[in-house]
Amino acid sequence: MTHHEKNSEHSAETFRSQFPLFAQPENRNLVYLDNAATTQRPAMVIDAVADFYRHSNANTHRSSHRLARQATEMVEQTRQRAAAFLNARSSREIVFCRGATEALNLLAYSLCAGLEPGDEIVLSTIEHHANLVPWQMMAERYHLQLRYVPHTAGVPQFDRLDEMLGNRTRIVSLTGGSNALGLRPDLAAIAEKLRGRHLHWVVDGSQLAAHEVVDVQALGCDFFVCSAHKFYGPTGVGLLYGREALLQAMPPWQGGGEMIAEVGLLHSVYADLPHKFEAGTSPLAGLAGLGAAFDFLAQQDRGAMAAHEQALLQWLHRELSQLPHLRLLSQPQHNLGIVAFAPVDAAPADLALWLDGRDIAVRVGHHCAQPLIRASGEGATVRASVAGYTTWQDCEAFLEAVRDFQRVTEPVDSAAAAAAAAGDDWLADDLSALRLERLASQRNWQDRYRELMRWSKSITTKPGIRSAQNLVQGCESEAWLVHRQQEGRHYFAVDSDSRVVRGLAALLLSQIDGRTGSQIAAADFDRLFADLGLRQHLSQSRSNGFYALLRQALQFVESAQ
Ligand code: PLP
Repeated sequence: MTHHEKNSEHSAETFRSQFPLFAQPENRNLVYLDNAATTQRPAMVIDAVADFYRHSNANTHRSSHRLARQATEMVEQTRQRAAAFLNARSSREIVFCRGATEALNLLAYSLCAGLEPGDEIVLSTIEHHANLVPWQMMAERYHLQLRYVPHTAGVPQFDRLDEMLGNRTRIVSLTGGSNALGLRPDLAAIAEKLRGRHLHWVVDGSQLAAHEVVDVQALGCDFFVCSAHKFYGPTGVGLLYGREALLQAMPPWQGGGEMIAEVGLLHSVYADLPHKFEAGTSPLAGLAGLGAAFDFLAQQDRGAMAAHEQALLQWLHRELSQLPHLRLLSQPQHNLGIVAFAPVDAAPADLALWLDGRDIAVRVGHHCAQPLIRASGEGATVRASVAGYTTWQDCEAFLEAVRDFQRVTEPVDSAAAAAAAAGDDWLADDLSALRLERLASQRNWQDRYRELMRWSKSITTKPGIRSAQNLVQGCESEAWLVHRQQEGRHYFAVDSDSRVVRGLAALLLSQIDGRTGSQIAAADFDRLFADLGLRQHLSQSRSNGFYALLRQALQFVESAQ
């Protein structure tokens, strides 16, 4: 089936038309594939936030005037809708918080306070840092043991979860869908393994809630957390679902206004559920927006929307798997909506920069899942993530850009690399063919990028200089620089895992290699960088790469004087 033969009922175009951001002139060509980080907001949500401030802004509970009553009512109505959204038994089981991160911190703080030293918490290597670090902090405080589901290259084997369960296991906190790979565990199978055990099961549903209808009762989990901004709602608000009896038994995690019934000088009596866990003024406009997000989602055929996202995902995986020099890390099966991969001959950040030049938004990095990315053998990956408004054209533009990138960054000549590997760690690069005028004369960013890639090829791979001692500090990608002085002139050898940084290094070396100290001191690198039109296109971190190399080179020159 080609992508044109799609049969989904969901119209991404109609859905998209409800999102004002896409209608702005500056966003007309935007291909937004960073939905796992945050989704865009529909007009309904934006209007609800603005309307709250425009018409009914007041603090809740504390005052007895009309606007305060209205705000209080809005919050409690949103809570009821949240309970319906997750199919909780009652709105007393819904705690509002700033997001999944805060919800997980709350759970770690409150649940671990009741544990004994040596008790165990089971996590997985695919968790977002938000579902790792809070448990690590509490494990240290209360002398608890963290155990991890067995994994292969960082990908958990959830079917072996029971091997980690023992009579000291008190908490199992696992993702409902990975933000780095999209992997959606079989939650019913996990529920089956946990049934009847004396422990608490926490589901990090941050990614799940955006793509599937959630039913916490059917799931059988004890706690479920998610952030509104991942499912078209506002930032700064999230949900914590907990079984009522468990929430009841847990100590509050923050003290302050709203969470108390009575305050004395030495002791206080806490408010009833769920307010016991909501100290201070809530993000009220955000909660108004959250209510609108529930309405908005209720108007969608979520099954059809998920089918559309899945069809895109299958296609993206199929197409990317056919490209050479690219390592796919995600799998199309059991995937909520993410394709994750790494180019073999370039740094992921090089590709992200290329895509950004075409206004294609993806994410590059460790995706707040460092243990997983490290275990995968990559330093970073490129992540493209779909949503209900992602069109086939978006995906086509993305794939075309990746293919073009591969043409631009075709593998570097292996003869030179082999020579370097054979032991000549200096291997002076020949930069004589590089022409500044050529770089300067390129009309647009894509052409300039292409030229930079051409320049990058003149910087050969030099395993001999890739050591911690030669590592340049302050560069987003790894870069190594060495220097020697001969007859009053300075010579440099450079290497980097990033093609863009290698291109920038070639540019730098074309200006300083073989020059005297005074010639180097007289050069105006800022001017050069600006004149070449690099400043406006390179992100801060990429520019930092150039400047980090420059700083290091100048330091070498200075200390050699
Ligand atoms: N858990 C997962 C799986 C996530 O994807 C995220 C956000 O990326 C979080 C937790 C943290 O969410 P927030 O930053 O909204 O608190």
